[in-house]
Amino acid sequence: MLTPESYQAGRWIGPGAGAQILRSPVTGEEIARTGSEIEPQAMLDHARDTGGPALRAMGFHDRARMLKALAQHLDARKEELYALNPLTGATRRDGWVDIDGGIMTVFAFASKGRREMPDGQVYLDGGTEALSRNGTFVGQHMAVPLRGVGVHINAFNFPVWGMLEKLAPCLLAGVPAIVKPATQTSYLTEAAFRMIVDSGILPEGAVQLIVGRTGDLLDRLGAQDVVSFTGSADTALMLRQNPALARNSTRFIAEQDSLNAAILGPDAGPDSEEFKLFVKEAVTEMTTKAGQKCTAMRRLIVPADLIDPVAEALTGALAKVTVGNPEDRAVRLGALASLSQKADVLEKAAAIETEARRIFGDPDAFAIHDADPAQAFLPPMLYLCDDPDAARAVHSVEAFGPVATLMPYRDAPHAAALANRGGGSLVASLFTNDPQVARTVALEAAAWHGRLYINDRTSAAEATGHGSPLPHMIHGGPGRAGGGEEMGGIRGVLHYMQRTAVQGSPRMISALTGQWTAGAPEVTGPEHPFRRSFDDLEIGETLRSDPRQVTLDDIEHFAHFTGDTFYAHMDQAAAEANPFFPGRVAHGYLLLSFAAGLFVQPDPGPVLANTGLNALAFMKPVSPGDSVHVRLTCARKTRRTDTYGEVAWAVSLYNQDDEKVADYELLTMVAYRG
Ligand code: NAP
Repeated sequence: MLTPESYQAGRWIGPGAGAQILRSPVTGEEIARTGSEIEPQAMLDHARDTGGPALRAMGFHDRARMLKALAQHLDARKEELYALNPLTGATRRDGWVDIDGGIMTVFAFASKGRREMPDGQVYLDGGTEALSRNGTFVGQHMAVPLRGVGVHINAFNFPVWGMLEKLAPCLLAGVPAIVKPATQTSYLTEAAFRMIVDSGILPEGAVQLIVGRTGDLLDRLGAQDVVSFTGSADTALMLRQNPALARNSTRFIAEQDSLNAAILGPDAGPDSEEFKLFVKEAVTEMTTKAGQKCTAMRRLIVPADLIDPVAEALTGALAKVTVGNPEDRAVRLGALASLSQKADVLEKAAAIETEARRIFGDPDAFAIHDADPAQAFLPPMLYLCDDPDAARAVHSVEAFGPVATLMPYRDAPHAAALANRGGGSLVASLFTNDPQVARTVALEAAAWHGRLYINDRTSAAEATGHGSPLPHMIHGGPGRAGGGEEMGGIRGVLHYMQRTAVQGSPRMISALTGQWTAGAPEVTGPEHPFRRSFDDLEIGETLRSDPRQVTLDDIEHFAHFTGDTFYAHMDQAAAEANPFFPGRVAHGYLLLSFAAGLFVQPDPGPVLANTGLNALAFMKPVSPGDSVHVRLTCARKTRRTDTYGEVAWAVSLYNQDDEKVADYELLTMVAYRG
């Protein structure tokens, strides 16, 4: 008998007086006793007073490295989780989505944190906004971690991924978390959570766990806390209405149930690649996790003239699906998570059956080896709804199991309209080889769906799957799907941060952000900045070059040397006729090359490579006879490897009248000190 424990303020608390017994959906035997008595205020205090400060003392890159170490730790011990996985009714393949999928999500956020966030405590959102004529007063949006706690309430179907996909962005932001898994599969979440605590990788107070009821936790939340909920729309509605959350404007992210659609394009006849892809993915969606996936395809929307071949292909493929004990490697469809879940699916399927007829999978006539009424198995069940315009239940009742409904459409706008009848979904997919169909459906449907997954013969081999939420892309959706965006790369991290507009002089803004802003003080270093190691370089350290004249010979030489003989550089009359140029002008790339010649220090030294150039703008033409000079300023430093980091230089070119002619950010890799 498993006895998963809560983890409160560094202490494990076992099942208490009102503990609940969980039964195996596979055998009906008792498998776990859950439900500990926790003290919500003690948990909140610990998170806010101990976990939050410890996490905020670290920078984004420190926390990203922490996540990577955590993912490695879990990866090394994941077989212990796979050993528990069949108790949830899931096959090993289902478990892969949950366990490996969860660990990969942590790896992805760790990598994004290092690549897309600064090596510091402040995340900049957009560039500096000019707010004054002379540049002495500017604005900048920046984001800092909230000072509260992330309360993560998760659904039963992904006990490991569900926890990790929320922990990763929350911890990366610098916010501690209290995790509340769904009771039915809490023992698997607890096992993964215990590994996290045992690893010692996270600071004290960064994570706590509630196995059982949350008591009055939500009543105690405030303006700096975030609730991230995953589960049914009914529970979300109930929790959202908590007066404390409303009064304090506590952020509430909801990922709810969703009647996801899959559309087969009008072009995708039975012999097309897209037809086969559609059938294959539909069967996968119906059977993975026994259909208990928030992203599963529930509505299969196909051209009216293809209904029969699609029905035939699907029923043929579903007939080959083996249902049974998830520990058996040959089994494709395991058990639902519990008997009550099975009862719920049958009740919802009955509602669908009022509008659609079942064309595959009879739960009454269905028997598997060792059948027992205590077992939570169901066959895949496919319905056909002939009149989806008149239907209501097929667009609104989520049977959270291996259930889907097939329905016909007339043309692409009609298909999109049917997909939108779900009232907002996490994902809709389209299988077509026709870009025009893709465009029509996307424009008609995108507003109703968090993700649009378009698959065709050219993407099939590498497509990540309709049902896979990816940490890089938004996971969430409008309307019925909850209106949340749980992931989506750094967007997910920003849910746990406050975006603030800061206004002031460039000197003040630079001090806040740790990055040089035009107009902030320039620092003169003891030697050429290219002689300075990554560690020695100061933000604001500047080189101002001597001027160099640009001659007609230079322009001619560059034109013939590179082959760029565009008329603006070569033909006086044609250049004059162009509204941008006074006559023949220097190539922009010639100016960039001259700039490099003006600021480079040629000897081997700490600058290892030029790796790119951002935000290049040519502002004013340079005519033969003009001269240019350069200002090069160390604007930002980011540690990258054990031996070197990235230095971003703000570079501006000016003419003889000190007018800016070009602006860009130069990226270099610079070695650390000795
Ligand atoms: P659920 O019954 O709504 O429960 C969700 C979570 O809310 C569970 O952790 C549950 O804990 C908790 N909860 C219930 N009442 C609560 C209360 N008064 N205070 C605090 N927490 C409370 O959903 P489920 O049955 O676990 O999951 C199935 C549903 O989730 C499906 O509808 C599915 O579509 C949806 N889902 C959505 C997503 C998504 O990303 N959009 C992902 C997965 C699942 P207990 O278990 O202890 O009651």
